[in-house]
Amino acid sequence: MVAEMWVENCQETECFMNGLVKRNPGQPEFHQAVKEFVLTVMPYVKQNPQYQQAQILERLTEPDRIIIYRVTWQDDDGNIRVNRAWRVQFNNSIGPYKGGLRFHPTVTLSVLKFLGFEQIFKNSLTGLPMGGGKGGSNFNPKGKSDSEVMRFCQSMMTELSHHIGQHTDVPAGDIGVGAREISYLFGQYKRIQNEFTGVLTGKGLPFGGSLVRTEATGYGCVYFCENMLNLVGDSIRGKTVAVSGAGNVAIYAVEKATELGAQAVTMSDSSGFIHDPDGIDAEKLAFVKDLKEVRRGRISEYVEKFPGATFHAGQRPWSVPCEVAIPCATQNEISLDDAKTLLANGVKVVCEGANMPTELDGVNAFLEAGVLFGPAKAANAGGVAVSGLEQSQNALRLTWTRNEVDEKLREIMEEIHAKCVRHSDGNGQVNYVRGANIAGFIKVADAMLAYGAV
Ligand code: NDP
Repeated sequence: MVAEMWVENCQETECFMNGLVKRNPGQPEFHQAVKEFVLTVMPYVKQNPQYQQAQILERLTEPDRIIIYRVTWQDDDGNIRVNRAWRVQFNNSIGPYKGGLRFHPTVTLSVLKFLGFEQIFKNSLTGLPMGGGKGGSNFNPKGKSDSEVMRFCQSMMTELSHHIGQHTDVPAGDIGVGAREISYLFGQYKRIQNEFTGVLTGKGLPFGGSLVRTEATGYGCVYFCENMLNLVGDSIRGKTVAVSGAGNVAIYAVEKATELGAQAVTMSDSSGFIHDPDGIDAEKLAFVKDLKEVRRGRISEYVEKFPGATFHAGQRPWSVPCEVAIPCATQNEISLDDAKTLLANGVKVVCEGANMPTELDGVNAFLEAGVLFGPAKAANAGGVAVSGLEQSQNALRLTWTRNEVDEKLREIMEEIHAKCVRHSDGNGQVNYVRGANIAGFIKVADAMLAYGAV
């Protein structure tokens, strides 16, 4: 059924994609994200000609604007260093632009356009008034001193501050941008603009941050996973879970999965993965938190501390048998071959913590096999949802308790899950890819229709 749907829409999608590729040459990640979206949304647009007449898909795939700028900074040896940074302000139809900043040497305009595009629909799914944007730089924070990271962030914000604001564009963290970087960026914004507003989210608790923001993406992803399982009369309790990544999302996905009675057995970073058949319990996770958040070390150190585990250099964790896979590292980390291996080993649920971690043919393989597949737009929306709650608290000049925020996060993930179910094709198993894309699309598209030709 799912495979048929995929083939049926090929012609229109191919035509649309040919135009998009021509207009955006050399941007493979952006092409991939749009293709996955259009494959499911095109039939809906055809059934609702008002969207076609208003060229909504053409307009949605063209960012409102892109700011490209140079970031000059000085390293500890006094050398002048130059990086490139971008802010993609993709679509503000339903609220100020909102989306993270990524610092990684692999950052390109294509990567940020794919992330910004996905962010439009993810933010729409949360039900909060947030448009879609994304930004970042090819700056590599690895191996840099705190002073170097601070000088880079200050230089970056000196330019970025002209383009963002609490009612305009509110960036947050992403790969390579955590509490330290957000603090440096916020400090510089505050100094330049002489105002204390919620212009960034993911801030420290003493200066406007929200409780549970750090945990929100990983927790939200596991809540979504649990919602999918509950719908089929099952739960995550007792399941073996393979997680990739050892950063913000991965750490809190492991924490929540463990709290809910599952056993997480893998984590990874760009050097390889660890497999701990006894499970990464709270004590072991505390070691990983310190290793990654404080000491900024490598995941291989885990096996020195816990010799029951093994380290597999240069490999991803998908060869480890599991019932639940939660990719939390980066895009395209599950290929078709990885998907086949996971399926051969009996995977039942794949819930995306990272953005676009599964290649398109991998997604197709999971859907055809009847796996419960939670796409990133829906499954990892918890982070931006709590960012939205951080903005609300900043605007109200209030702080909500940990329980209040966690309860709102649970409700939002439940609502996102319900929206996906409602907009799936309704034939047998829920197609969460279709459900998330269409539910996210409708709200933004209707706002664009209301505005007329802008
Ligand atoms: P972090 O920088 O905290 O952690 C990223 C982790 O993934 C690290 O373990 C890193 O290893 C690994 N990783 C990064 N790039 C690669 C790569 N090319 N190959 C292998 N491993 C890699 O980032 P986050 O946890 O914040 O983000 C992870 C994913 O989740 C991203 O896709 C992000 O867009 C997405 N996301 C994050 C949200 C958030 O709130 N933070 C919200 C929604 C989605 P190493 O240290 O070796 O680089």
